Amino acid sequence: MPTLIPSMASLSPAPVSGYRGRLAPSPTGYLHVGHARTFWTASQRARDAAGTLVMRMEDLDPDRSRSAYAEAAIEDLRWLGIRWQEGPDKGGPFAPYLQSKRRAVYLAAWRKLLRRGFLYPCRCSRKDLETALGAPHESSSPEAHGQQTNGKLEPLDDEPIYPGTCRHFLGSIPLLPGPHASDLEMPEGINWRFRVRDGEVVQFEDRNLGTQRFVAGEDFGDFVVWRRDGVPSYQLACVADDAAMGITEVVRGADLLKSTARQILLNRALGFDNPAWFHCRLVVDHNGRRLAKRHDSLSLRALRQRGLTPMNILSAELPLEA
Ligand SMILES: [Zn+2]
Repeated sequence: MPTLIPSMASLSPAPVSGYRGRLAPSPTGYLHVGHARTFWTASQRARDAAGTLVMRMEDLDPDRSRSAYAEAAIEDLRWLGIRWQEGPDKGGPFAPYLQSKRRAVYLAAWRKLLRRGFLYPCRCSRKDLETALGAPHESSSPEAHGQQTNGKLEPLDDEPIYPGTCRHFLGSIPLLPGPHASDLEMPEGINWRFRVRDGEVVQFEDRNLGTQRFVAGEDFGDFVVWRRDGVPSYQLACVADDAAMGITEVVRGADLLKSTARQILLNRALGFDNPAWFHCRLVVDHNGRRLAKRHDSLSLRALRQRGLTPMNILSAELPLEA
């Protein structure tokens, strides 16, 4: 075995493998214990693989994202001891690392999906959907899902199954003209949905949770990829960025398993490779409810003020008193 130069051991490891993981906080509140553990897992997996960790700020929603929360997330993650090699604070070969600055990437993906015949415009209002689905459903019982803020689902993992009212528009979208584009070149003003094949089984191997299986049309329906208010959906932005940034493994919370099924369909439609998936079990409170951003007393900020250390926060024995 070759002799190591002694000083080598103290150098911080430079990425040597092709592994690329990411941290993708959304700055709509302070990070809490659940985020801390998921992000810690992501950082450990990148480190163990001698790979690169990318920080991507998912600040797409202009109504709910706050730059103060973005700064807080970066500070909290550093305090936890997590380090990344690329990000909004560091730059890197795939900059910008703020989703709010990456609109062109999402527009290109939207156009590709539209041209390939996967999308249709949906004119249904929220009220139309409620009527079609029959009350009550998600929007009238936020506690059942525990993730609704100001009437908006967060993230869109549990959007109600779309009844298909506007599916007939799928065949009637005019072929896009070339350089002299019509209004269809821009998605604004209407919701655009991705048509799923009802009954199609989407199965994948999760590196933490094993085989996962979902059925299109039962577990999720035609989902929104571009919102009428001009914002690309989480699903679209996520796959477009993971592909553009060369992400090889996605580590995130198990609340996003159903999103993964949708994203696998998007990757196929867009011709992107799937990354590997590693979903972390969710941290729950005493009542068995998953932690949400409304658990302010469990934010990393609050716990730090109470004198807890990163080790306390990452250990399993942490008392979760909301
Ligand atoms: Zn519709």
